[in-house]
Formats: sequence, structure tokens, C-alpha cells
Amino acid sequence: MDLKELYRDVILDHNRRPRNYGRLEADGPAVLHAEGHNPLCGDRLTVYVRMNGERLEEVRFEGSGCAISTAAASLMTEAVKGKDRAAVAQLFGEVHGLLTQHDAEPGTHLGKLAALSGVREFPARVKCATLSWHTLNAALGRGAATRTSLSS
Ligand code: ZN
Repeated sequence: MDLKELYRDVILDHNRRPRNYGRLEADGPAVLHAEGHNPLCGDRLTVYVRMNGERLEEVRFEGSGCAISTAAASLMTEAVKGKDRAAVAQLFGEVHGLLTQHDAEPGTHLGKLAALSGVREFPARVKCATLSWHTLNAALGRGAATRTSLSS
């Protein structure tokens, strides 16, 4: 199995069986959420985060979108759960590089997130893959219900 097939299988698997799917009931100010919308494709999702100090203790998402947006959101929740804000910000930077720089090699520490590098062969779908990350950022950044639109 070559790398492209492996990446495709990861995306298909996470689209079929999204991890951490569903809402996180607000039970205090420690639960943050934000809504994201990618009008280019029609993807809509809501990301929920329960914080424990600086750490993302629980991360969930729900919504509807294409296979790439769903798989990317699922992979993101697995990757950021348990990390602190600073680590998540760094990871976001690496994922963004992976999706936008053609020669970026996925570091082995990225694990399954490396599968997202397959998306950069389809530039129109990059926003599908980054929607969940931008939405997570919005949730973490403002600490209240916000809307993110990737229309620019
Ligand atoms: Zn999409």
C-alpha cells in the first residue's frame, strides 16, 4: 500500500466513522464552542471544547459537510484532545503548512494528521480541511459562541 492509498483510507475511515462526534453539553463557562461555515462547499460544523485550565480536556464536533471536512474535523479532535492551547496553536500551524506548502513533509509526530497532506492536490478542498481548525481557533480565541466564515 503506498502513502497515497494510506492517506485516502484514513480520510475514508474518519468520514465513515467520525470520532468525537456529537455535542458537548454546556455545563459551565469551561465549555467553549464556535460555529464554522465554508460557503465554497457548504460545510457547516460546530466545535465544542471543555477546558481544564489551559488544557483541552474534551473536544467534540457536529455538523454536516463533505467527506474531507468531516474527516479533517474527526482527525483534529483526536489530535488536539489533551493538549494545551500553545501545543494546539503549534499543531494548527503545522497542519496549515501541510495543506498549503507543496513540499512540506509531514513530521512523524503528526500521526494520522499526515493524511491531510493528500488534500493539497485539490486546492479547492483546502478550506474543507481547515474549517474545523479555524472553528476550533475561534472557540478558543473568544471563549464564547462565535461564527466563523471562510468567505475570504
Ligand atoms: Zn467541503
